[in-house]
Amino acid sequence: SIVVTGATGHLGRHVVEQLLEKVPAEQITAVVRDEHKAADFAARGVRTALADYNAPETFEGLFAAGDKVLLISGNEFDKGRVGQHQVVIDAAKAAGVALLAYTSAPGSLTAALADDHRATEEVLLASGLPYTLLRNGWYHENYTENLAPVLEHHALVHAAGGGRLSSASRADYAAAAVAVLTGEGHENATYELGGDEAWGFAEFAAELSRQTGEEIVYDAVSVEAVTGILTGAGLPGPLAAILAGVDASIEKGELEISSGDLSRLTGRPTTPLAEAITAALKG
Ligand code: NDP
Repeated sequence: SIVVTGATGHLGRHVVEQLLEKVPAEQITAVVRDEHKAADFAARGVRTALADYNAPETFEGLFAAGDKVLLISGNEFDKGRVGQHQVVIDAAKAAGVALLAYTSAPGSLTAALADDHRATEEVLLASGLPYTLLRNGWYHENYTENLAPVLEHHALVHAAGGGRLSSASRADYAAAAVAVLTGEGHENATYELGGDEAWGFAEFAAELSRQTGEEIVYDAVSVEAVTGILTGAGLPGPLAAILAGVDASIEKGELEISSGDLSRLTGRPTTPLAEAITAALKG
């Protein structure tokens, strides 16, 4: 089987949808925490398995020899993600899966956010399992899904200076994962995945202005200012610091990816940022 963890998350849903276009539903297993959230998959013949990264016993016997597994990194920053991911890697190793692909972060990213990914990669390499590192760059959706405050204040506030980043849509990264899970020859490969075109926040603001007909500017501020704005909006301090750290990495160019791996794996150009903005504005 092809087994996908985090299958009811944003990226996981794209992966399962795209797998359904390529392989029979009964060859796909969606690993979920809440079966209700996967009812639509089950109705279409996808197998579901209940498991939680925090409960190692739930992964016992879940995988079979020869499975191809996509481990989608978790989002519980306070629960020790490396240990959570290790639970999945250990179970995959015990079963003798054919491949374990992991959604990691760009190799160039030094922000604190990357620490769990680096450590998970080390666990995976040490396991001796055939692996694929899908080092996903940033999602367009990180910036297009929460445009309300930007449109309200007519300003995009970031601490990224004139830095550029190569984002792509979740659907693009999902397509790369599907290419790896359904294709051949991806054992022990590391892919640096990102959008074909890098952009800076000034260009993002200009594109938003063009599409809305309103003047929206990029307000480049300090890391401290961004941290203050995020905590002021109710984010916990540590999370605000992590996100501000990402801006600092963008300024340094750490999220600019020029490998071409993403469009090469999917066989098509990545989704342009302008298209993601249009989709977001339509709601
Ligand atoms: P989501 O937050 O939508 O999905 C996270 C998935 O992880 C969900 O399916 C969730 O399950 C699952 N999960 C979390 N904790 C556990 C657990 N303890 N046991 C089992 N499953 C668990 O994120 P996305 O799909 O958008 O992105 C996937 C991952 O990529 C994120 O989790 C994060 O690690 C990383 N990421 C990457 C970004 C980028 O720009 N490259 C941006 C943001 C995140 P459930 O559906 O039950 O909630």
